[in-house]
Amino acid sequence: MKQLEEIKGLGPKTRVALEKLGIKTSDDLLYYYPFRYEILKKSNLEKLKQDDKVVVDGNVESIPSVFHINGRLDKMNFRFMSGGKLLQVVIFNRAFLKSKIPIGTTITVIGKYDYKHNMIVANDIHLGALPNTEKIEPVYHSYGGVGGKQIRSYLFQLFSEGIDVVDYIPEGLSLKYQFMDKTRSLKQIHFPTNKNSLKAALLRAKYEELFLFMLKMNYLKREKQHTNGLKRDISFAFVEKFIKSLPFSLTDDQMICAKAIYQDLNDSKRMNRLVQGDVGSGKTIVSFIAMYMNYLSGYQSALMVPTEILAHQHYKKLTEIFEPYYIRIAVLTGKTKIREKREIYEGLKNGTISIVVGTHALISEAVEYQNLGLVITDEQHRFGVNQRSNLRNKGITPDILYMSATPIPRTYALTIYGDMDVSNIHTMPSGRLPVITSLKKNSEIRDVLESMYQELKNGHQVYVIAPLIEESEKIDLENVTLLEEKMKKAFGKFYQIGVLHGKMSSKEKEEVMKNFEQNEVQILISTTVVEVGVDVPNATMMVIFDSERFGLSALHQLRGRVGRSNLQSYCVLISDFEKERLSILTETTDGFKISEEDFKLRGSGDLFGVRQSGDMQFQIADIKKDFSILVKAKEDSEAYILSGKIEENSILRAYVQGTKVLS
Ligand code: ADP
Ligand code: MG
Repeated sequence: MKQLEEIKGLGPKTRVALEKLGIKTSDDLLYYYPFRYEILKKSNLEKLKQDDKVVVDGNVESIPSVFHINGRLDKMNFRFMSGGKLLQVVIFNRAFLKSKIPIGTTITVIGKYDYKHNMIVANDIHLGALPNTEKIEPVYHSYGGVGGKQIRSYLFQLFSEGIDVVDYIPEGLSLKYQFMDKTRSLKQIHFPTNKNSLKAALLRAKYEELFLFMLKMNYLKREKQHTNGLKRDISFAFVEKFIKSLPFSLTDDQMICAKAIYQDLNDSKRMNRLVQGDVGSGKTIVSFIAMYMNYLSGYQSALMVPTEILAHQHYKKLTEIFEPYYIRIAVLTGKTKIREKREIYEGLKNGTISIVVGTHALISEAVEYQNLGLVITDEQHRFGVNQRSNLRNKGITPDILYMSATPIPRTYALTIYGDMDVSNIHTMPSGRLPVITSLKKNSEIRDVLESMYQELKNGHQVYVIAPLIEESEKIDLENVTLLEEKMKKAFGKFYQIGVLHGKMSSKEKEEVMKNFEQNEVQILISTTVVEVGVDVPNATMMVIFDSERFGLSALHQLRGRVGRSNLQSYCVLISDFEKERLSILTETTDGFKISEEDFKLRGSGDLFGVRQSGDMQFQIADIKKDFSILVKAKEDSEAYILSGKIEENSILRAYVQGTKVLS
């Protein structure tokens, strides 16, 4: 492996740009795969029409002339003879090629055919003729002026100097599948010679990635099965009493879940369970029951959530539910004041705090637990496998519980969550009415305001989700402000309007949420910060602007903020686009089905979202398209671990035990 500095011709500016793409070493560069391929086939000029794409080879017929348009832009012209036809070629920003293409040079020109002017407006020029067969061109994501061409020139240099990469696929499996050798496969991926070799190369790379992923999963699973959990002897009678004390009776599925957790906890094996349940199905209370059981056996519990708002909301509910038990409960987030933080650290270390809820702050270096027995992560599709190990704990291996609103269809989930037991909450608490969802155009805003007014008049509350512009928090803010003005104009006289967005301090957010919860604010305008977990049952309507910008699952999650009581709730999706896709939401409220559709439409890449951290970011494999490879990789990795061969393979052992994800 080389550092970028060691690559010839790669200057500091390019280095910075490459680093922004996550490329820090020669290995990163080798694993910086093209995101698609373009197939170049020699065009027949006779058959092309105006503005058709053109790929032809021929000879340079005049000395290229270069014009500098302004400081940054240049334009090059030359005559070009292809198949007995003389044409002009124009290309921008390739003046540096001038000296390489003197008269008579054979080149391939790729661009757009301007029939009227007998010209090709080229976007690329390659030295040399086109092979008679088609040529496959990799296309890379580029950034800050570093384009695919440049990336490939560095790659070309690396390959010509000879690369040295680790092949993670065990020999036996390479033989079994007759995989292409790794170096050759990488070269094919970046410099494909033909379709078949490229296909074989991609197959090998995908298999390697998925094999490693599954190997790690299975290894962790086996490790968990072999590490002893905590010894507990909880009496179910106490648990039952606690459940009876709740403000509602559990649904059957919640009860089944609670019992499964009870058994896990009492078992000497370590618990590693995922509770999947559609949004609003009542997962939170199940986690509280688990914490109560853990408390009965004398251990501390930590509940980790993705947002501050959710942390505070859970904290409030926890203090309500546990009020009769005199349990010390704390909330800890990145924004907790230093003094308070110190007290919480102290309480966790000396064991006086039994339950702590919070964000990532819970696993920061500074936090030490006296006897952490249960870790729950809520509403995170999946925290990274490695994050858990950060919990500093006095030699105890805590039980683990995940709560998820089912982002992945079952077949995929079974494979990918292969390392854990899964419980499902299918039934909604009784009396729930499905949210009525409708699609409206921006021009129909009056109708929307009218329906909002109806709900408000009945004493209910409304969420308004502001347009989302991911790239810029500043613009987000402007959108929220604009919307606030609109809403004030329509409702300001009679109703209170609150605003919630990412730029607010946690105290401000808390204040607004509190006002909304207590119905002092009736209309809450928000960016997607309310997406996860927020629970205000009196809110019966949600209006979502620019709906087309969201994935179906995200919209479903948002919509899950309403319909949380026996009141009929409504969701209005405002959009002038993508009617067909969005209408899926008007037809079903089944989260499983919706995520299935989302999956079909967007593939796994987007499903996990750009901001989703964790282990699901594959470089080259796509768990949907490459599902059959995934299944093979799963079987092979299981067999590999079972055979004990992994103990002899130091590279793979280091990989599964380490924290490094394939670079
Ligand atoms: P989610 O599964 O989306 O996290 P929550 O746990 O927030 O859902 O529950 C949604 C709402 O349903 C909450 O207001 C909660 O108090 C209520 N709830 C949960 N279980 C029941 C039940 N068995 N009967 C009635 N209401 C319930
Ligand atoms: Mg929840």
